[in-house]
Amino acid sequence: MKLLSPHYDVAIVGAGIVGLGQAWAAAKTGRRVIVLEKTRQPLGASIRNFGMIWPIGQPAGTRLEIALAGRKLWLELAAETGLYCRSSGAVFVATDADEADVMREFADMGPRLGYQVHYLDHQQVVDASRFVRKQDAIAGLFSETELNIDPRQAVVALANHLQSRHEVRICWQTPVTHFCNGALVTAHGDRIQADRFLISQGDDAIHLFPAAMTGVELVSCKLHMLRSEAIAQDMGPMLATGLTLRHYESFQSCRSLDAYRGRIARQWPDLDRFGIHVMVSQARTGELVLGDSHQYGQDISPFHDECIDQMILQALRERFVLPPAPVQRWQGHYLKRLGHTLYVADVGPDVRIVNALGGNGMTMALGIAERMWQCWEDSELLRGLPDNAKASPSPHAAKLQHRDEANEAMRDQ
Ligand SMILES: Cc1cc2nc3c(=O)[nH]c(=O)nc-3n(C[C@H](O)[C@H](O)[C@H](O)COP(=O)(O)OP(=O)(O)OC[C@H]3O[C@@H](n4cnc5c(N)ncnc54)[C@H](O)[C@@H]3O)c2cc1C
Repeated sequence: MKLLSPHYDVAIVGAGIVGLGQAWAAAKTGRRVIVLEKTRQPLGASIRNFGMIWPIGQPAGTRLEIALAGRKLWLELAAETGLYCRSSGAVFVATDADEADVMREFADMGPRLGYQVHYLDHQQVVDASRFVRKQDAIAGLFSETELNIDPRQAVVALANHLQSRHEVRICWQTPVTHFCNGALVTAHGDRIQADRFLISQGDDAIHLFPAAMTGVELVSCKLHMLRSEAIAQDMGPMLATGLTLRHYESFQSCRSLDAYRGRIARQWPDLDRFGIHVMVSQARTGELVLGDSHQYGQDISPFHDECIDQMILQALRERFVLPPAPVQRWQGHYLKRLGHTLYVADVGPDVRIVNALGGNGMTMALGIAERMWQCWEDSELLRGLPDNAKASPSPHAAKLQHRDEANEAMRDQ
């Protein structure tokens, strides 16, 4: 077994946004960093997403602050690298009165809590985006803080920037097989020694430290995504709908949400069953990025169900006028920690797992990394930034929680 280099300050497993974000933050403090990635280029969740930097989804307080700090870092990275980054904001479109009620309630309290949002009446929402179906939209919510990046470009740009400007060493096609006697061991037989190790393996996480990854409310999630053909113009604000209000914790403080959520559950149970809420962003090359669905844990099959894509497209077409047929489809997977923003676990002296940023990794990873390198023992991060509104989980989280409790009861018998 050989030693890849004498010694690093920091060695990181995984070149997704979490690993690269940690590498950027560590390198900015002057540390010598190496990143080990098993694939020849980033291929995980970090290049399969919408590219929505989405502070509006985070609850007020620490999580919103971290999201806004992350937003600043994306703008800094865009200024330094020239990567595609639209300060587009986002429009949520309401087609029913109960959705509009939630949006009005959120617009009323949002500015006090740190959100830059305002309510849109029918004419304003129609004027806000040329994709909105005039005859169906009744109102909307505009949020100013959202950024649209292109993840297929952004993650590669960050990796290149780390190598050229911060002298980070990134070893592609270098799977890490285990950790032994204070060193990471790669499939090529190299041993990597460092003062500090970070393990950010995304959804692949079970292999390196299996004991640390079981029994901690971690669950995989599979998502369906689609892409339209390219359009020539800038799409304007990114798009979401009332359905999205059910998905993000920020809206759970709205009293009117329960009634709306109840109606969707009764009227469109398959939207809850497949975790569908629809959103639209734009790729650097003009295509519209469309999605998505969420299937968790044991509901995940290796196969791509066309009916889910059709439900996503139908929900989109009921609210927006979009280019005709998708030209690309794919799946993404991430790890989610129920009731938390992330999972941090110290599995040895200076060996730390950072993972399970769920559906918010592009928004949160850079801000979390910056904060972690400012204070390694930050207690809020170590606890994984638990949800404020645990009493009222999303339908999917509630279903999973219920199943976990049932499994637990069975194990106890
Ligand atoms: C369809 C979809 C849409 C999303 N939309 C958004 C969005 O718009 N906004 C947002 O904020 N978030 C979004 N997310 C969430 C976000 O993409 C994820 O939270 C984030 O990308 C997770 O990053 P990661 O680094 O943990 O994982 P990954 O990107 O999967 O990276 C992990 C890396 O570790 C490597 N690895 C694993 N094991 C080893 C090993 N043993 N040795 C070496 N390398 C290893 C893998 O090859 C991989 O490259 C979305 C996610 C999906 C799937």
